Amino acid sequence: MLKNANYWAEKNSNKYPEELHKTIIDSGIFEVIECPCPATCECKKWGCNFHITRKKNITFNDALDYFMRCYVDKKRHIVVKQAIESNAPIKGRAAKLIPVTKKIEEKWEIITSEINQKTMLCDHGEEPWIGTEFKVNADTIYHSKWQAFLNPDLFIAYDTSSQMLLHRDYPNSVKYCELIKNIRIDLINFLNYQNQTITAFRKYDDPTIFFKKIKSTNTPLGTIIDKLYLTL
Ligand SMILES: [Zn+2]
Ligand SMILES: [Zn+2]
Repeated sequence: MLKNANYWAEKNSNKYPEELHKTIIDSGIFEVIECPCPATCECKKWGCNFHITRKKNITFNDALDYFMRCYVDKKRHIVVKQAIESNAPIKGRAAKLIPVTKKIEEKWEIITSEINQKTMLCDHGEEPWIGTEFKVNADTIYHSKWQAFLNPDLFIAYDTSSQMLLHRDYPNSVKYCELIKNIRIDLINFLNYQNQTITAFRKYDDPTIFFKKIKSTNTPLGTIIDKLYLTL
């Protein structure tokens, strides 16, 4: 299924998987860090040895440029940027992007100072997941995309069609934080059933087959699940 997702994405002029991998590897926004968790963390049970996380002190404008490459049609980048600068509404698919992005810009100082380096597999306890109380629906698509962009190993982006499929599979997950918690339970059950490590799970997604410019295959966990739902 992930092979199919990459095949069709290669045919799309935006080549989102290529942009996402370039962003993860080359942009300087993210880094692969040694797993920082204690031995008791859930991720360690599945052989976790690295996490993909955002670096500190990234500027909002850098983040926005790479966010658009990953999630916004190339032809709309200039219009979107101007709309964010002037806080003016725009029409079309990206209309809902402007208010969410303005909120991210306002909170940027907090976002860059408190980086959550955990993966979705990790123990989260009762820690508040800042900004994850929104409902999963077509209006909050760009919310989910920003969450996934800011913490790609922890959160999942969805689209118009994939959010409907997520509702089918997780009917009781009204809020985004509930959805992530329930997907986490399924991921743990899957690894248990397959007797698999998290590193092996990351390798399910191999965009290098269709995107020759991509070098590494360290795919963030959120991206793998996002792609699975885009292909279903
Ligand atoms: Zn870990
Ligand atoms: Zn952990």
